[in-house]
Amino acid sequence: MNISESKRLFAHAQQFIPGGVNSPVRAFRAVGGEPLFIKRADGAFLFDENDNPFIELINSWGPMILGHNHPMIRKAVIQAMHEGTSFGAPTAREVEIAELITKMVPSVEKVRMVNSGTEATMSAIRVARGFTGKDKIIKMIGHYHGHGDSFLIAAGSGAVTMGQPDSPGVTAGTAKDTLLAPYNDLEAIEELVRFNKDEIAALILEPVPGNMGLVIPMPGYLEGLREICNRERIVLIFDEVMTGFRLAPGGAQELYGVTPDMTTLGKIIGGGMPVGAYGGKKEIMDFVSPSGPVYQAGTLSGNPIAMAAGLAMLGFLNDHPETYGVLNQIGMKISEGIKKINLELGYDYTVSHLGSMYSLFFTPEPVVDFESAKTSDTALFGKYFQAMLQRGVYLAPSQFESLFLSTALTDELIDRILEAHRESMIEIHK
Ligand code: PMP
Repeated sequence: MNISESKRLFAHAQQFIPGGVNSPVRAFRAVGGEPLFIKRADGAFLFDENDNPFIELINSWGPMILGHNHPMIRKAVIQAMHEGTSFGAPTAREVEIAELITKMVPSVEKVRMVNSGTEATMSAIRVARGFTGKDKIIKMIGHYHGHGDSFLIAAGSGAVTMGQPDSPGVTAGTAKDTLLAPYNDLEAIEELVRFNKDEIAALILEPVPGNMGLVIPMPGYLEGLREICNRERIVLIFDEVMTGFRLAPGGAQELYGVTPDMTTLGKIIGGGMPVGAYGGKKEIMDFVSPSGPVYQAGTLSGNPIAMAAGLAMLGFLNDHPETYGVLNQIGMKISEGIKKINLELGYDYTVSHLGSMYSLFFTPEPVVDFESAKTSDTALFGKYFQAMLQRGVYLAPSQFESLFLSTALTDELIDRILEAHRESMIEIHK
């Protein structure tokens, strides 16, 4: 495969951008080789600067749930562009999208728009602290909530992929207020709560984590967290930046029937534009300025172009709930296909799957938390990643990520993905 243009751009980029990329995992360091520079994307495909096509299994890390460059989103963005790109003032569209979000997401009675998932989680814990008058938060080991200081402690996703789960630059003062627990372990939470009685403002987690690879909550786990948080007056925050509008119109909280006090959102909410949001119970959200004392603001928040894209996306998903059946079918065909091929070839690896998210872990152990996720053979994953890329399938360049499927994946493309998987598995075990 000729990737000369990507190589040229990467060499040039390193002179002007740290590591040549604007987000660490993009540099492909964990999987070897050099990153592809992407020229355009359409439907189920990415095209690099040499016009090589790749079947997409990340979809911009989640947002492109209907595939890339969807005509409906494109039309909404182009229409909005005719009216100006930013006003820094209220608009009708942001009211419409706020109302739609409150309708779709069970826990959200009021919502504030921000520009990224990072901003959403940073703001949510500030509000939870202001609301409860307490300082500490509980976070799960291996979960990722963006790059806010409080979360770069035992962080998953790119942070763990780059070997930097605890980032320098986070002060000891900040770190001491972040308490850590393994996922899927209610007893660990009970213990933290016992030792920090009346000091914990919030418990934040990815209800279905994707940032240590995809891991499924054990039966009763989310319900158990809800009970503990009720009892201890802890604000339960579901970070649904990945799962929101993906696992169900109302995200993981709808799927599992557990309603948190606050929810953080991103990715799909912007239809591919830079958007995040946080919301929750009225009594908590009314603590946010200007109705309350907790300050949070943004020059570009509620940006009219981003809101137009988001409205088109969320409006479609709200009007077409059958989309979730289609996504589940696609997820089922790919993950079951992978399991079947692995079995035929005699490889015992764990496949984790829910709806349109899945991960193939290169370990035979069941993956229930970060400890078990870490038993994966990451070097073998790197070889698999390269083998799939050679066959025109673009995966997340890390073992510790979920893949995100789109409705653009036809049966024919699924067959191509599975064939690439079979060939890659044979090649990497030679
Ligand atoms: N929370 C979760 C669960 C995420 O997966 C991510 C990003 N992948 C974030 C927060 C941060 O979002 P952003 O990259 O938009 O800042």
